[in-house]
Amino acid sequence: MRFTDFKLPTRLDEARAALKELGGSGFPVAGATSLVFRGGSDARVAVDLGRLGLEGIEEVPGGYKIGSGTRIADIQEFRGQGWMLHRVAKLFSTQQVRNISSIGGNVASTFRWSDFPVAFLVLDCEFAIQGDSERVLAGPDYFAKQPRAHFSPGDILTWVKVERLPEGAGFGYRKEIRTHADFSLATAAAVVELDGTRIRSLRAAVGGALPIAARLPKLEKRLAGRTVRRSSLAEDAFLKEVQEACADVKWRGHTGMSDEYAGTLAAATIRDAVADAAAEALGGEE
Ligand SMILES: Cc1cc2nc3c(=O)[nH]c(=O)nc-3n(C[C@H](O)[C@H](O)[C@H](O)COP(=O)(O)OP(=O)(O)OC[C@H]3O[C@@H](n4cnc5c(N)ncnc54)[C@H](O)[C@@H]3O)c2cc1C
Repeated sequence: MRFTDFKLPTRLDEARAALKELGGSGFPVAGATSLVFRGGSDARVAVDLGRLGLEGIEEVPGGYKIGSGTRIADIQEFRGQGWMLHRVAKLFSTQQVRNISSIGGNVASTFRWSDFPVAFLVLDCEFAIQGDSERVLAGPDYFAKQPRAHFSPGDILTWVKVERLPEGAGFGYRKEIRTHADFSLATAAAVVELDGTRIRSLRAAVGGALPIAARLPKLEKRLAGRTVRRSSLAEDAFLKEVQEACADVKWRGHTGMSDEYAGTLAAATIRDAVADAAAEALGGEE
């Protein structure tokens, strides 16, 4: 893809009008860090979303509203009760890329290695798309397919709302990389809620070893009701359970990994994320 012109709108309606008029030849641009991954030489006109005032994190009832233009570096800096996205941002590429990439760009069109889709899959969240009217999609609906399929020319993701992590719940986020700032080979996120030491609910999601991030309903069901002890979370038996519950996932290896290896690595990464979340929910030492 190559750009033949730039539009620099300062209002949302202006940006939408430009994109609608351009149709297939227009391209909304936030941080523009994804362009390096796009092949082809088709000519497009860039419509820069950077002057629309879509940045910022606001505390709202139940959680946080994140403007789609908010940079990953700002997500890493932010703190609040029940906020855990800084832990995801910390593992996102390099400081340079975090300074430029927006949360909107990360979730509007996802790659195998995209961090935030995996985390959002285990959190209560909503995504607002401004078209002729505003559409608000719940996380599972938004990520049920490649998110860019939700967007027609002129549609702009304006904000993401994420609920606070419930009091007493634990969050785990892991990714496997070979070198610093490498693309993830396997990414996993988990939220665990306990009744005492019994798992009341588990949400688990995986990316990196799949073309698009996904929840793991069989694992969630299998571990619900299970009693956890900090020491048991590191046991091989726990890893075996994760492997069994993920047996029908169609793993996809890449950059030299076989599908089988991708599955082996993903299972260990999921185990670690679930163990971290459970340990955090257990609190203190056993
Ligand atoms: C070297 C390098 C390493 C990276 N490593 C990682 C990593 O480890 N983990 C990770 O998650 N990401 C990583 N990224 C970033 C990731 O690949 C994407 O490039 C990035 O998240 C896109 O954000 P952006 O703001 O730059 O969006 P852009 O590149 O500007 O846009 C991305 C896509 O989203 C669309 N878009 C953007 N904003 C909106 C909006 N508000 N409404 C509708 N559509 C929109 C664009 O049209 C485009 O299709 C890396 C990038 C680089 C360059």
